[in-house]
Amino acid sequence: MIDFGDFYQIIAKSKLSSWLEVLPAQLANWQKQNIDSRFNQWINSIKHLPSITPYHIDLLNSVTVSAEHSLSIGEQQRITNLLKNMMPWRKGPFNLYGVNIDTEWRSDWKWERLIQHIDNLEGRTVLDVGCNSGYHLWRMIGAGAKLAVGIDPVALYLCQFEAIKKLLGNDNRAHLLPLGIEELPNLNAFDTVFSMGVLYHRRSPIDHLFQLKNQLIQGGELVLETLIIEGENHHALMPGERYAQMPNVYFIPSVPTMINWLHKCGFKDIKVVDISFTSVNEQRSTDWMTSESLADFLDPNDKTKTIEGYPAPMRGVFIAKK
Ligand code: SAH
Repeated sequence: MIDFGDFYQIIAKSKLSSWLEVLPAQLANWQKQNIDSRFNQWINSIKHLPSITPYHIDLLNSVTVSAEHSLSIGEQQRITNLLKNMMPWRKGPFNLYGVNIDTEWRSDWKWERLIQHIDNLEGRTVLDVGCNSGYHLWRMIGAGAKLAVGIDPVALYLCQFEAIKKLLGNDNRAHLLPLGIEELPNLNAFDTVFSMGVLYHRRSPIDHLFQLKNQLIQGGELVLETLIIEGENHHALMPGERYAQMPNVYFIPSVPTMINWLHKCGFKDIKVVDISFTSVNEQRSTDWMTSESLADFLDPNDKTKTIEGYPAPMRGVFIAKK
């Protein structure tokens, strides 16, 4: 069982308090449906992680924690084994008392591409939709956010997040709730809302944008990162069965189309602040995610194409105001 009581207490006194009308029942329901043997094993692994008092924590430039005295090789190995029970680790990296979780993605690179362009997070209450292991939640705290709330419906990611949180000394400024964006009431309460790597997984991108907008205060900032294609206004790619082997990709917009969608949903001050190709150094197989990764999803004879023949992954970062 995961106890969300702390979170309820924190939001009871905040502008998120109206969430309490629905949240406890939703999470109780989630817990009922998600108890299976794998989940119980993950929870057990978290329980067996040592409770170490952090001596130094860096969340500004990385997610790194160290103890006053280095852990022995045996202690590090024990932590490694417990964390490896929660594979695959996709988003990171994390450096925990000398244990380096080398995740499939260099999520720190995505953060570096956007952090200089967004409103200062100092004192802000922020939402990260589709937060996966919660890597960026910690970076949001490192950048000054007062409270970072992540939502992600996948049980494994909640467990990965709880493991990291325990090793960071149970820092109570970041929280992950196992929910999809469509389950949130219109809170109109977050100063910044992030949606990174999610839009193209949604069957209706316009509904997704409205759902994000409904979480923001008036004047709040949306930070949206998505796959994009080259192309003119009105163009979007709807791949066939798979895109780069992913079965759940619906719409990949061109930059002008993405701007058009944001306009249509009533966002203001829309800017595109970064466009980058995803490299096989940013997304790759590692000891912590041993299945195939980007290099296997590209055409071996033409790396500008996916194995299905679509343009290779290119991503854009958009910011906009409500
Ligand atoms: N934001 C991270 C992770 C992107 S991967 C990053 O940019 O690196 C996409 C994540 O969205 C996955 O962890 C997936 O579980 C989550 N997701 C899928 N459907 C969702 C939904 N309906 N609401 C919120 N998150 C969702």
